[in-house]
Amino acid sequence: MLGLMQDWPLLISKIIDYGACQHGSREVVTRSLEGPVHRTDYAAIRARALRVAQRLQRDGIAPGDRVATLAWNTWRHLEAWYGITGAGAIYHTVNPRLFPEQIAWIINHAQDRMVLADASFVALLEALADKLGCVERYVVLTDGAHMPATRLRNAVSFEDWIGEVDGDFRWLDLDERSAAGLCYTSGTTGHPKGVLYSHRSNVLHSMAMAAPDALGLASRSAILPVVPMFHANSWSIAFSAPMTGAKLVLPGARLDGAAIFELIETEGVTCAAGVPTVWAMLLRYLDEARARPSSLQRLIVGGAAAPRSMIEQFERLGIEVFHAWGMTEMSPVGSIGSLKPALGALEGDARIDVKCKQGFAPFSVEMKITGEQGERLPWDGKSYGRLKVAGAAVARAYFRDATPILDDEGYFDTGDVATIDANGYVQITDRSKDMIKSGGEWISSIELENLAVGHPDVAEAAVIGIAHPKWGERPLLVVVPKPDCRPRPEAILAFMSGKIAHWWLPDAVSIVSELPHTATGKLNKVKLRELFREQRLPAA
Ligand code: ADP
Repeated sequence: MLGLMQDWPLLISKIIDYGACQHGSREVVTRSLEGPVHRTDYAAIRARALRVAQRLQRDGIAPGDRVATLAWNTWRHLEAWYGITGAGAIYHTVNPRLFPEQIAWIINHAQDRMVLADASFVALLEALADKLGCVERYVVLTDGAHMPATRLRNAVSFEDWIGEVDGDFRWLDLDERSAAGLCYTSGTTGHPKGVLYSHRSNVLHSMAMAAPDALGLASRSAILPVVPMFHANSWSIAFSAPMTGAKLVLPGARLDGAAIFELIETEGVTCAAGVPTVWAMLLRYLDEARARPSSLQRLIVGGAAAPRSMIEQFERLGIEVFHAWGMTEMSPVGSIGSLKPALGALEGDARIDVKCKQGFAPFSVEMKITGEQGERLPWDGKSYGRLKVAGAAVARAYFRDATPILDDEGYFDTGDVATIDANGYVQITDRSKDMIKSGGEWISSIELENLAVGHPDVAEAAVIGIAHPKWGERPLLVVVPKPDCRPRPEAILAFMSGKIAHWWLPDAVSIVSELPHTATGKLNKVKLRELFREQRLPAA
C-alpha cells in the first residue's frame, strides 16, 4: 500500500523558492571580481535566476542540455546555477585550474552548448575556442561596462543577456531524478570522469549537510564557502544556505588570508569551509597581523587531510574545527567531524586526536571497510581496508561511460584506505595507491606528512615510497620550508622521531622550493613520483 502524502518533488527550484519566500531579505554578499563588495538577497537571486532560465530557453537550451560555468564564487554564478537547473538544463562546473587541454576535453565530452564564464577567463577560452565546436554561445559574467572585447562566438555580457527578458517564467516541472549538475573528477591519471548529480541527490545531500552535526546552519548563521563552486558542488553550500536562510558570503577570486579575514570580520561569518591550503594562508595572516576572527565559530576543513598543528591552532583561537572527508563522486561530503556525546567531554590531546580523524557519516551515507577478499572488517579503529560507500548522493556510474563502478552490495570503492572506530569515526590512512609498503607492512604517507608540517620551519610536506632492495619500498619525505627558514633534514627527522613507530621514520629528506599540486589543490603524487624517479636512498 502506498502512503497518501503528496508527491512533492525534491527539485533545486524548491530551494530558491523557499529561500526567497521565508528568507527573502537575507543577504548574499560577494567580493566582486570588478572590485567592490556587492550585496543582494535571496529574493533578488530568485528573480534573476528566473530570467536566466527564461533566457536559456529563448536561446534554445532544452532540458538535459549542458551549460558550463567557468567562474569563481559570486552572486551571478549562483543565479546561473539556479537558472540553469530551473530550466531543466545541467550546470557543468569547469575547474579553471585544469590544464587548458583538459578543459577543452571535458567541455567536449560534456557537449556543453553554452559557456558562462568570468571575464578573467575570456583569454583562456579564446585560446581554446577553435577546439570547442559544441559551444554555441559564451556569456561573460559581468555587465556591459566591464565587458571585454572578445571574438568568442555570440559573446554577450550576463547583464545584457538577462536584460532582454522580463522573468515571467515558471520553473520546469521535472522528475526529481533528472540530472542537475555535472562535475568531472580531477583525473590525475587517464581522462577525467563526469559525475552527474540529480535534483534529488543535491537536495538530500544539502539537507544532510545543513544539520547541526555538519555545517550546523540556521537562519542566524553566516557562511563563507571559500571552497569554489567548481570544486565538487561547493560542498553543498550553494544549496544548504538558501535552504536554511543562512547569509551567504562569497569570496570571488581573492582567497588570500587578508581578504578572507576581512570578509569574516565585516560580514560576521560564523562558519567557513575550505581546503587545508586556504586555512594555512589564513593562519599565516593571523599570525603576522596578530589578528583573531571574532565571529567565526565553526571551521570546516576537507578535501585533503588537515594537519594536527592546524587543528590545534584554530581550536586554540576558540574556533571549533570540523574535519570532513569526501569526494566528487559523493556530492561530495562523506563524513564530518562533530563530537558525539560520548566524546564531547574530551579535552586537550584526546580531543585533538578525535578531531584529526575525518568524522562520521551523516544520514544518507553508508560505509564499510573491506579486506583483500572484499570481506567486511570490524569497526575497531585498528583494522584498515578499502573504504566503500553507498547512499542517496553517491554516484552509481560515470557520465557517458558504461564501466560498472559498484560492488555486489551496491557500494562504490572510494580508492581510500581507512579505519573506522567503534564510535563510527573514519580515519583516512591514505589513497590506496599512495600507501608505502615496507617489509610487507603499510606506512601511511598522510600521517608522516601531517607530523612533518608540525615542525615550526616546515610549510608543506609530501611523502612517497622509493624502491628499496631490502624492504621493497621506503618513505622519502619532501618538504617546502616556510619563508626565510632553512630546516636541516636531521632536525626534521629528530622532531618526528618518537612520535611514530621507529620503522616509519623516512629514510631521507629532500628540501624543495615547491611541490606539484592537482587542480583541486591536492598534492600531485603522480608528478612527484616522476620527479623523484631517479632518487636512491642512503642505505640502499
Ligand atoms: P574533491 O574534488 O572533492 O576534492 P576528489 O574526488 O578530487 O574530490 O578527491 C577526493 C579525495 O581527496 C578522497 O578520495 C581522499 O583521498 C582525499 N580527501 C578528501 N578529504 C580528505 C581528508 N579530510 N583527509 C584525507 N584525504 C581526503
